[in-house]
Amino acid sequence: MAYQRAYIPMKVISISQGYGESSSTHKLSYALDFSGVDEGRDDIYAPFDCKITKLYQPGDTEKHANTVWLTSTKKVLSPNGYYGYLTISITHPDEISGMKLGQEFKQGEVVCKEGRTGSATGNHMHLEVSKGTTANWSLEKNGNYAEYVITNPVKIEEYLFLREDAIVRNNTYKGTKYNFIKESEITYKVKNVPSEPLLVHETNDYDKASVLKEGFLYNGDDVIKFYDIGSMSYIYHYEMMGYVAKKYLSK
Ligand SMILES: [Zn+2]
Repeated sequence: MAYQRAYIPMKVISISQGYGESSSTHKLSYALDFSGVDEGRDDIYAPFDCKITKLYQPGDTEKHANTVWLTSTKKVLSPNGYYGYLTISITHPDEISGMKLGQEFKQGEVVCKEGRTGSATGNHMHLEVSKGTTANWSLEKNGNYAEYVITNPVKIEEYLFLREDAIVRNNTYKGTKYNFIKESEITYKVKNVPSEPLLVHETNDYDKASVLKEGFLYNGDDVIKFYDIGSMSYIYHYEMMGYVAKKYLSK
């Protein structure tokens, strides 16, 4: 079985607010607002096989907008080479009164639709990603500014792949470009290995590295390349993650 990839849960990507100092309501988080198409309410898909681990429904509290936390039910693969559990929170969805804690979704299933519940000026999905299985927010403060931030926050663009069928309409906010990555963009072929197999190592120290048990690649194999370290690349191939000589990978 291949490792399941973690995906951004919308098909049309249009960022209406980034994060950091220049943002108005994401100053202390890595939250992004996705507004999707101009009109209507876009579907929000399960980013991976997951279950509802926390839920703010209408009437739960006056302060919070509708929010659904989804935690992966197994380890998932990220474009930065992380392989582990992830939790996301989706805020402002339209209609979630029928949802239940523990409810499960298969990857790609429609979970809900974007909306404008709580304090929102238009239909959008406020998305945050957390590394691990904790589903919670905490109120972070800086002077007079306060913001609810997911526990163990990580950057969406580093932990969620763009779906292959996604359309990017806008990935820039106030001069900051968010580089969302499709798997196909970081997929490379093993080429020109003179004496096969190409050995996959457990560490990037080529001399001392031990070769993984099934650490053999052949010319023509596809790998996801996460990053380079010196002359080595950190890669994924089926259920294997490790380091290979960079010079044998090409597009
Ligand atoms: Zn937001």
